[in-house]
Amino acid sequence: MALLETRGLTASYGDFQALFGVDIMVGSGETIAIIGANGAGKTTLMRSISGVLANAPASILYRDEPIGALPAPDILARGIAMVPEGRKLFPSLNVEENLLVGNYGRKIDGPWTLESIFALFPILKERRNNPATALSGGQQQMVAIGRGLMSNPALLLCDEISLGLAPVVVRDIYGAFPLIRETGASIVIVEQDIAQALKVADRVYCMMEGRVTLSGRTADLSRADIHKAYFGTD
Ligand code: ATP
Repeated sequence: MALLETRGLTASYGDFQALFGVDIMVGSGETIAIIGANGAGKTTLMRSISGVLANAPASILYRDEPIGALPAPDILARGIAMVPEGRKLFPSLNVEENLLVGNYGRKIDGPWTLESIFALFPILKERRNNPATALSGGQQQMVAIGRGLMSNPALLLCDEISLGLAPVVVRDIYGAFPLIRETGASIVIVEQDIAQALKVADRVYCMMEGRVTLSGRTADLSRADIHKAYFGTD
């Protein structure tokens, strides 16, 4: 069953159109990767789904309800959380406080609590009282993912979580994904690191210049298919 669908989704920044009729579907419990070069529209797609950019109501369906025009807090309350590109942690707050921002300090039913996030990323427990900005890039990314999980989302959107991190750190962070999946959450990851995306995703959408140029089950896509959809050349 589809948890989320976009239908003919368009998005513009002023006169500049960034998305041209994007159709994607995320099934319940699925992990989806959105890949594509710089400027393909991946972040714009994430911003549209998470309510940062307003869209036509019926261009985004969540549990079969039109949510395209809802503001970001309403989208979060319905169970869609975003881990934004660049992490966007609060520099004046410590690690624990940054995590608590994810559920506005309320208890939200589900597997994710401060304690279970500390079990997922033990280093965050050690650093819980440190300012978020005192952490390494990889640890900050763990805080951003933990903050997203604190709302116990049915759908977690992760935008470029490996950007700027060393491969060994990326591996540690992606090591948490099987546990996140086990809770039944659906996950959408936006990645420029294609190899990493293909390792974790059930299905992949490739975008170029605001359009989906390829989609399919990860196991069915050849490197040549992906290369062509990513770069537009053979
Ligand atoms: P990246 O990997 O660089 O984040 P992306 O695939 O996420 O790329 P978007 O950030 O969605 O791409 O950008 C899509 C297009 O929209 C690009 O041409 C970009 O220059 C443009 N764009 C993005 N944000 C804005 C903005 N705030 N104002 C104007 N144009 C924008």
